[in-house]
Amino acid sequence: MTTGACTHIDEVTTVKPPKELQCEECVKSGASWVHLRTCQTCGVTLCCDSSPKQHASAHARSSTHPVIASAQPGEQWLYCYRDDAFAEY
Ligand SMILES: [Zn+2]
Ligand SMILES: [Zn+2]
Ligand SMILES: [Zn+2]
Repeated sequence: MTTGACTHIDEVTTVKPPKELQCEECVKSGASWVHLRTCQTCGVTLCCDSSPKQHASAHARSSTHPVIASAQPGEQWLYCYRDDAFAEY
């Protein structure tokens, strides 16, 4: 996969699917979410930036895991938080 400036998405050869369709962090605190994203480095599934807690972007900032994939059924795209790069697959 080629996105130009971003080399992180290029390194994703096999997209990790979500293990469960829920945000691991929201479930712990009883919060709700809008959409789900799966970290392509460690495989954790967390909620998107439209969700109140924005766990996926918090995870990307606090870890060195820049790339997430949409965990929404039917959506096939990757996003790199570090480079603000987007790629469909
Ligand atoms: Zn990148
Ligand atoms: Zn969450
Ligand atoms: Zn991660």
